[in-house]
Amino acid sequence: MSSTYRIPCISHDPALVAGEYDTPDAAERAIRDGIDDHPQCDLLIGRYSYPLIEVGCPPTTGPDRSGRHPCLPHSATEWVDVAWLRILATVHHSGDDQMQALARDSHLAHWPLERLRRLRDQLSLDLAEQT
Ligand SMILES: [Zn+2]
Ligand SMILES: [Zn+2]
Repeated sequence: MSSTYRIPCISHDPALVAGEYDTPDAAERAIRDGIDDHPQCDLLIGRYSYPLIEVGCPPTTGPDRSGRHPCLPHSATEWVDVAWLRILATVHHSGDDQMQALARDSHLAHWPLERLRRLRDQLSLDLAEQT
């Protein structure tokens, strides 16, 4: 299955999507080297087999990205299937503390509601009126 990798920028609301790469490594490298028009932005990696199927939170460690990327420290891209992000959006909206705590303790910790809200167009979520 061939995929294309693009770079959603979630410093914008809603997210803008930049670039197009053949491999996740190429997308990571592009983020490390800096994306035109998004020098200080919070950038993700989207894996598209049209539609979007996975989203990656790129490495936050390393001098190039330090101070720019508001996530937990991690040295590899953390990928998540978009189905999980849609479920997670529902969890955030449920207001259920126990479920939110479970999500925070998992690989979903990279995906607070604000990030999902900005990705709403990519995830086909109806979160426009929520804050
Ligand atoms: Zn940007
Ligand atoms: Zn992360």
